[in-house]
Amino acid sequence: PPPLASHGPAKVISMCNQKGGVGKTTSTINLGAALAELGRKVLLVDFDPQGALTVGLGVDAYDLDRSVNDVLLDRSVTIEDVLVKTNVPLLHLVPANIDLSGAEVALVTEVGREQVLANAIDEVVDDYDVVLIDCQPSLGLLTVNALTASDSVMIPLECEYFALRGVALLVETVTKVRDRLNPDLEIEGILATMYDARTTHSREVLARLVEAFGEKVFQTVITRTVRFPETTVAGEPITSYASTSAGAEAYRQLAREMISRWPTG
Ligand code: ADP
Ligand code: MG
Repeated sequence: PPPLASHGPAKVISMCNQKGGVGKTTSTINLGAALAELGRKVLLVDFDPQGALTVGLGVDAYDLDRSVNDVLLDRSVTIEDVLVKTNVPLLHLVPANIDLSGAEVALVTEVGREQVLANAIDEVVDDYDVVLIDCQPSLGLLTVNALTASDSVMIPLECEYFALRGVALLVETVTKVRDRLNPDLEIEGILATMYDARTTHSREVLARLVEAFGEKVFQTVITRTVRFPETTVAGEPITSYASTSAGAEAYRQLAREMISRWPTG
């Protein structure tokens, strides 16, 4: 894809699946880093109290002065106040830690409780080309905030038989948010993760996915490899840690495929 003449306004994408361990965080980090390599200015938002995105980028989640939780609960704290620059040029992080686990309860009594993240992102949307929100594995108020703040949803799905079961519920939630809160919300695409080409099982699940969701399924598939857990420990994207690995190439290909689907690149 061609370089950009200038940055912004960003496309905001939620990385969402209420099941844990399907590759949401891994995809957020590595797709983000791959987009940054292509000259896109990228903001990653850790929206899971587990803080795996934060840790995965080498930031100490327990040693944060302020995090996304402060942005949600104190309207005078902006995203700019809490963001961290990563070792990857053009890649910024809004960190999170376990403090965020209280936000869901604290927000319930707020007026406009579903729009709090959207309002915060609005203030920085012109500074970035892409914002990726790493959602927690639930469809609660935090995830509804992420969906309300987003232009689209990307669904990472592991290539396992039971993976398809949860998608209906997720699509239902997306439809509800579209009807009530965010009429322009789209499905960006479905990303098959943990793919193992040696098993007929993986190939069958992928075929079922394409049958059910057609063109929404990205042609790029993420293969299962131990390199990903290794990068988590290293606190770096795979594009930095194992720059020439198949896993790094897969996320670069995903970044190119995604950009090529956008009318404006
Ligand atoms: P989620 O955010 O959906 O809970 P993660 O991205 O944290 O999922 O992935 C869960 C675990 O699986 C992590 O240990 C991660 O390193 C590992 N993992 C992610 N993608 C892959 C892959 N393609 N192959 C092998 N392991 C992976
Ligand atoms: Mg995660």
